[in-house]
Amino acid sequence: MDPAVDLAQLAAEIRACQRCPLAHTRTHAVPGEGPADAALMFIGEAPGYYEDRQGRPFVGASGRLLERLLAGIGLTREDVFITNVVKCRPPGNRDPLPEEIEACRPWLSRQIAWIDPLVIVTLGRFSMAQFFPASARITRIHGQPLWQERRAILPLFHPAAALRNPRWMEAMEADFAQIPDLLARVQARRSDSSSPQQLSLF
Ligand code: SF4
Repeated sequence: MDPAVDLAQLAAEIRACQRCPLAHTRTHAVPGEGPADAALMFIGEAPGYYEDRQGRPFVGASGRLLERLLAGIGLTREDVFITNVVKCRPPGNRDPLPEEIEACRPWLSRQIAWIDPLVIVTLGRFSMAQFFPASARITRIHGQPLWQERRAILPLFHPAAALRNPRWMEAMEADFAQIPDLLARVQARRSDSSSPQQLSLF
């Protein structure tokens, strides 16, 4: 079984998806891109105008910021998997509706299951809401990882929000700087839990 082939097959299914009305207004669905064994996965909100045109996630100003922040921790966008909660652009870049998020959720779940990343970085509140309680506020919890059994979820501001607000940009840069340490910690936890138990003879 080749995870890259399965992920490509999943992307083909997403491109043909008709599960919600956004299928009628999109130019291209945007399944996401990156290695099938990426240790780090970014989840944004929904494709915007340029993403919809090109069928690729995070192109334009937000994508450039993401690339700059990745370079700061020694990574490129080719090293990470980048996707969105909703795979098709909501008209006029409006917020995705709850029923659209719900219809699209199985695609994201399958991507996470295939890639099995060490760290998921949520970008913005819609992505954060997939993992954190409804009462969570991004302004309060950004940069504070949530530990799950196999990975850590790190909530960050959306790059578009950081581009609008210098204070959030500063917070985003500081939060981003935690990523290498978080990756190492999750990797260590997985290694510990997979090492064979020491057998006692007495
Ligand atoms: S947004 Fe998701 S559920 Fe709706 S059509 Fe696109 S891929 Fe399918």
